[in-house]
Amino acid sequence: MTPPELPPPRLETLAIHADQPDHHEQPAYPAAPSISMSTTFRHPHPESDFAKTGISMEDRPENPSMHVYSRYTQETRLRAEEVISKMMDGHALLYSSGLSAAASALDFYMPSTIAIRRGYFGVHAVIKKYCLGRNVKVIDLDDEYPVVEGIPAGDHLDLRQGATLVWVESPLNPTGEARDLEHYAKRAHDAKGYMVVDATLAPPPLQNPFKHGVDMIMHSATKYFGGHSDLLMGVLAVQDYNQFKLLWEDRSQNGRVPGNLETYLLLRSLRTMPLRVRRQSETASKLVKFLYSLTEGQIADTHVPDKIAHGCVVKQVWHSTLQPRATLEEELDDTVKENHDFDPSSQITGGPPTFGILISNETYATFLSHYLSYFIPATSLGGVESLIEQRIVSSPGMDPRVMRISVGLEDVEDLKADLIAAMTRLVDERSP
Ligand SMILES: *Cc1c(COP(=O)(O)O)cnc(C)c1O
Repeated sequence: MTPPELPPPRLETLAIHADQPDHHEQPAYPAAPSISMSTTFRHPHPESDFAKTGISMEDRPENPSMHVYSRYTQETRLRAEEVISKMMDGHALLYSSGLSAAASALDFYMPSTIAIRRGYFGVHAVIKKYCLGRNVKVIDLDDEYPVVEGIPAGDHLDLRQGATLVWVESPLNPTGEARDLEHYAKRAHDAKGYMVVDATLAPPPLQNPFKHGVDMIMHSATKYFGGHSDLLMGVLAVQDYNQFKLLWEDRSQNGRVPGNLETYLLLRSLRTMPLRVRRQSETASKLVKFLYSLTEGQIADTHVPDKIAHGCVVKQVWHSTLQPRATLEEELDDTVKENHDFDPSSQITGGPPTFGILISNETYATFLSHYLSYFIPATSLGGVESLIEQRIVSSPGMDPRVMRISVGLEDVEDLKADLIAAMTRLVDERSP
């Protein structure tokens, strides 16, 4: 009997079923995956059918007939990668951290020029290291991109190493502002180069950068994929299968793989990721709207004490849902100009669950996080618990009044009440 045709599964369904075994082949599989720890695997007898007909990891790294050694492939990691690949609409690989994924992206493209502006400071440190001892130019995102053909990375591949690499973070850390991916992808390709997007702040289901022409997507899976502030991991995804195989080969050699136990935690987290991220995004957009109503020139809610309205505590809010408007950079430096024609709603559904605010003075910014009950004063983002951070504590050189908020899964009214109470106390106790 042929089973009834079902429509292609949607994101929430994929997150739960994408890696389940085929029940025709394996009729009694466990509903939850087993924890698989082995680093090494027994070789089959050379004369066995299995050894003769099995598909090797080199031929099918995403689903070989057997494992050899866990630096190459391993059961739990393959399952997690299958779920992520389907959710991202590409071929995904896991790395030991977001920054090890970033370093692997640079090693993959071997760019001679890198175009980048702002974004996560750690990525800039990785780029700096990559440039050491190499003749690499780092230019601004809006500079002219040099046309460099690059050279093929292998006989059968059209990947050209040495070409210009455009690195775009969107939405941007720490402000949650989006950048026009289509615009930069086109410019990268016009210069025969490649574009990578660090999409950490807006994972699926909020955006799909492949739809906008990017070549590779990077994520710090430590954030929304992990979602519980208890694992460190990174993702790289491409749509070209040959390039995926080459990336896998690189990773098999450099060993930037996550540990088996963490990978199990990640797989568990993936099941609820679409739900978590959607809710976190909704709550963040509500809080953004509320905080924006406390800025200068806005009409504050009547339930809010007058002393925390009219820009007294919150001077500015940044978030993709408030674009187009002056960016953080433009706010702090009037020589900077960014493109304001782009509408982020064509790229992101809702807005990222992380955003930035500018506090009216440094003292308030230093103490606000410590007056809150539900927002933990800590770096990082993407977990179920809300976090708040005076950004200069982790990101040197930042204006000391800039704060980053990562919205968790608490009730939005509780978070709002917490913010109102903390800001009121701040004005009462710490007025300059
Ligand atoms: C956290 C983060 C990274 C680095 O990821 P790790 O997992 O900490 O190595 C890179 N980019 C962005 C945007 C991040 O938020």
